[in-house]
Amino acid sequence: MAGGRLRGGGRGDHMAGMDADTPDLDFTDAELRRYSRHILLAEVGAVGQAKLRAARVLVVGAGGLGSPLALYLAAAGVGTIGLVDHDTLELSNLQRQVAHVTARIGRNKAESAAETLAALNPEVKVEIHPRRMDAEAAHELIPRYDIICDGTDNFATRFLLGDACHLLGRPLVSAAVLRFEGQLSVFRGHEAGTNPCHRCLHPEAPPEGLVPTCSEAGVLGAVTGVMGTLQATEVLKLILGIGEGLSGRLLLWDALDARFRTVRLKRDPACALCGEAATIHDLSAHAEAPALVCAAP
Ligand SMILES: [Zn+2]
Repeated sequence: MAGGRLRGGGRGDHMAGMDADTPDLDFTDAELRRYSRHILLAEVGAVGQAKLRAARVLVVGAGGLGSPLALYLAAAGVGTIGLVDHDTLELSNLQRQVAHVTARIGRNKAESAAETLAALNPEVKVEIHPRRMDAEAAHELIPRYDIICDGTDNFATRFLLGDACHLLGRPLVSAAVLRFEGQLSVFRGHEAGTNPCHRCLHPEAPPEGLVPTCSEAGVLGAVTGVMGTLQATEVLKLILGIGEGLSGRLLLWDALDARFRTVRLKRDPACALCGEAATIHDLSAHAEAPALVCAAP
């Protein structure tokens, strides 16, 4: 199936709870207490909380970005959270991957993070995918979720997710960190309008070895915490339909300078993925790509 042409598959099936005019507002007393600080917000309220409960979010990479991201999504009451990670927990992960604990070294990271999320909020359902995010996994998993989050640190997986989310019609919330810097954007190029896709920003992956990974160049642990938390915030905004999203903008943060800035991203008419003469119609280019997930993000 990896080489087959893709179609934007039935987004409505999975967005039912999010699009419904009258979501299920039947909350238990415990849920009302747990989410009371959300429900107090006029922009969230009981209807927004019901939208969060109905939402399905896929977190790719249970590492430095995926840890705070998944923790905040679970705490917020996002009803179903999928976790993809084939890697096992190492001692060097714990400086930033806060969904894990020392006693779980050697365990699969999706399983370890799921245990922490369940302890934090037993009301949410966590779906564990202890597998590599390759073209086959993308075909299988992405259509089952409303929003996809990239928390990986290698270009093979980043480009796979960028192409797959565009072709399968899902928004991609993508963050990256290195050393003392982070960046974040939301890609919705599959939707009508002027939203750029991932390849409008990065047409091609850089040659292997040109851009260092966290395991080569290092990263301040708290920087991944900030970026993963910003990523969670954008996911919650998307589900709730509030605020101004980051689609068409790239947020950049330099922790050493303590400065945030955003730059405009434009749709590229010549883009190979979303342009008028697009040449990428499937994931066949990723079929053989080694989608190694860096242990560092
Ligand atoms: Zn594009």
